[in-house]
Amino acid sequence: MKQFVPKQGPSGTKLEGFDLDLETAAELLPFVRKGPKGMRRLEEEAEDMAKHQPRWLLTVSSGRTRLACPKCKGMLIFEQGLRCSACSTQLPTHRLSTHARACWFGLLPPIGISGLSKIDRALSTNGAPAGHVAAQHAELGRFLLVPLLAGYPSDYPKSPPQIRYLPGFFELPFMPPDKASHRVHLYGQGVLCLFASGQWNRKDFIRQVIEQRAYAHVIKMLNFANGKRRAFAKVS
Ligand SMILES: [Zn+2]
Repeated sequence: MKQFVPKQGPSGTKLEGFDLDLETAAELLPFVRKGPKGMRRLEEEAEDMAKHQPRWLLTVSSGRTRLACPKCKGMLIFEQGLRCSACSTQLPTHRLSTHARACWFGLLPPIGISGLSKIDRALSTNGAPAGHVAAQHAELGRFLLVPLLAGYPSDYPKSPPQIRYLPGFFELPFMPPDKASHRVHLYGQGVLCLFASGQWNRKDFIRQVIEQRAYAHVIKMLNFANGKRRAFAKVS
């Protein structure tokens, strides 16, 4: 299965394909190592991501921190082991912290912010926080790209995927603090609360949770920040 990373070449940035090394990723995923079903599940999920969200990459995080290359701060990818996508430095997984986990990282589809006047104005003045992109498109108007980290708990798929905002999300204008909150469905540490008890269907893949529930959560957060206090009142 192929993944694609942007690489700096003489004629600018180009997307370069590589074979995703799921065996190495599995070393950083306790749920995969627990039984024979785990690897099959990871393969199916990775195929599903490659098909529908080909720009999302499997990388490594520790809690809410995305780990980067110790030499050049480049993105870590699973290509014949774990290595830096920029300088190719290899990082043996046994040298990482015991909290290090393989996780998906990528940007959500664009969210129009022309109708969110308070946020749009503030972003036009101050620019977007680290990892986020605010820009203009002929048809979409002003839009925002929000990055997320999407990981698997140790008892996956018994428990649902764990999806997190990057710290920059809470630097967006008028956002509530990054604290556990029933009002805006957050667990703290950037983790999105996406399921009421009994709602998670263990046959669903992480990609569906990202595209449906997490995407809806981001839109509600933006509406909340823009002044719609009851943005989360309706359960999606
Ligand atoms: Zn590097």
